[in-house]
Amino acid sequence: MREQVFWGWGEPGAGPTLPEHAGAFLRDELGLPGSVVDEPVALADVRLSPPALAAGVRARLEDAVGAEHVLDDGRTRVLRCRGKSYLDLLAQRSGDCEAAPDAVVRPARHEQVAAVLATCAEAGVAVVPFGGGTSVVGGLEAPREGFAGAVSLDLGRMDAVESVDVRSLTAVFGPGLRLPEAERALAQHGLRLAHVPQSFEWATVGGCVATRSAGQSSTGHGRIDENVLAVRCATPAGELATLGAPASAAGPALRELVVGSEGAIGVITRAALRVRPLAPAHRREGWFARSFADGADALRRLEQDGLAPDVARLSDETETRVSLALAGPGGAARRAGLAATRALGYGDGCLLVLGWEGEDRGIGTRRRPAAALLRRAGLLYAGRGPGEAWAHARFAGPHLRDDLLDRGTLVETVETATSWSKLEALRDAVGDALRGALGQAVVGCHVSHLYATGASLYFTVLSARDGADPAGQWTAAKRAAGDAIAAAGATITHHHAVGRDHVPWLAAEDGPLGLELLRALKERCDPAGIMNPGVLVAG
Ligand SMILES: Cc1cc2nc3c(=O)[nH]c(=O)nc-3n(C[C@H](O)[C@H](O)[C@H](O)COP(=O)(O)OP(=O)(O)OC[C@H]3O[C@@H](n4cnc5c(N)ncnc54)[C@H](O)[C@@H]3O)c2cc1C
Repeated sequence: MREQVFWGWGEPGAGPTLPEHAGAFLRDELGLPGSVVDEPVALADVRLSPPALAAGVRARLEDAVGAEHVLDDGRTRVLRCRGKSYLDLLAQRSGDCEAAPDAVVRPARHEQVAAVLATCAEAGVAVVPFGGGTSVVGGLEAPREGFAGAVSLDLGRMDAVESVDVRSLTAVFGPGLRLPEAERALAQHGLRLAHVPQSFEWATVGGCVATRSAGQSSTGHGRIDENVLAVRCATPAGELATLGAPASAAGPALRELVVGSEGAIGVITRAALRVRPLAPAHRREGWFARSFADGADALRRLEQDGLAPDVARLSDETETRVSLALAGPGGAARRAGLAATRALGYGDGCLLVLGWEGEDRGIGTRRRPAAALLRRAGLLYAGRGPGEAWAHARFAGPHLRDDLLDRGTLVETVETATSWSKLEALRDAVGDALRGALGQAVVGCHVSHLYATGASLYFTVLSARDGADPAGQWTAAKRAAGDAIAAAGATITHHHAVGRDHVPWLAAEDGPLGLELLRALKERCDPAGIMNPGVLVAG
């Protein structure tokens, strides 16, 4: 079974590393030494309590899934301890794994999931569904207080493509299927899911549905929640299964109670999704806008005129500059390109990457009016290079994050969405809040998902890590950013979900009655309160 390192991203040794010149960037911009100052502890040095499940409970779990699928060795527990947020990685790198589940349980079928939930509900054992383990909102850390133990319910064995309906363009998946495997299986039918978050390599279909995730081409193909047709969910109170009809007027869609439920009411054991024909061709290219406001307004017009490409990603001045500074091979050529755009009057410039997928002819037909609109809006075409470079480096970021952590950097992201009218003000407010809380910090931002009424904003934050209280440093900055988002009436999460980290701001989004409804849903489906406690609904 493939596993990521317990303290970072990917398999050991996988992925690119920071280029030499990144050290100078860290010194100049953040006052860091630029060299490695902190390395993760070895697995043998991790702090871990002995597993605490009662023998009777363990035996019943073994009856449910088979003895070989109830694992409580140290390595397996450490690997299922947390997700991949900055706070998760800080704790894991320091060897603080006291929160590890007592056991990792690996069911193969819906009925086995139901049996595990029944056992845990009766015994008061918390259950944390585990897909790809890429949560960045504290969605995977098992709470211990008030429970007779905690298990991680690893869905990796439920990884079937159960059926493919080529005529209807639908497919039914097991929840634990990783996205690359889903794409490989669909490709045999000439189809694709076209859901590509940056966590693509590890994220699962069930995890994505449970968190309403968005991929790089969600502007063109829709977020995962827009493509879910039906779900089957095992809850401690029984099964909730919805119909896969293309549309229905039968009251509020119960499917929506499950999509985005983050394991708080039950376990998604099957998901039917809309799929698409394979794309024979791709075109990716770069444009420069003189300012973020110019670029964002051009994107608004593209979207509202029905001309948006599948991929649209506008970096602000800071993100454009930082991504060039940290770029590996090819970075020099791109820096030279940026100097040329400067000479053409585009100042520091904001890089816009656009991408189209489909038949060559169709791409041309869609691209022409979009390019004309961008030119009229004053943007500068920068050729295919920047688009191809972005696609090439798309999955490097999480690997480089590990290197940045080694060099004493605070590195984390914040994401939100709002209407076009409020986009600029929100970007300023969140950036100011983060810089205000952190002092010397580099805060870059991009728009990457377009809607007729607004867009997402995604911030990447770099600062020097406070050696004495690194978690407190980020918690304070995140609180400032979250408060700024709530004060602006924007969403606390566009695609990372709520987890435990965003619960404090949910009241501002859903209101008191909304929170009561969520709590009532949880209490009805999960009367013993064992399902991912503290996620989505405050404990
Ligand atoms: C480097 C990196 C890049 C990322 N890029 C993106 C991105 O581009 N777009 C995006 O939307 N997100 C992104 N994320 C966030 C994350 O990958 C997504 O939220 C993803 O949907 C999680 O999928 P997963 O299979 O890893 O789920 P997990 O992390 O295993 O689980 C996520 C949550 O859902 C619950 N859960 C998992 N499976 C089930 C199930 N079958 N039934 C019920 N509950 C379940 C878990 O308990 C947990 O609370 C990124 C994360 C990282 C670390």
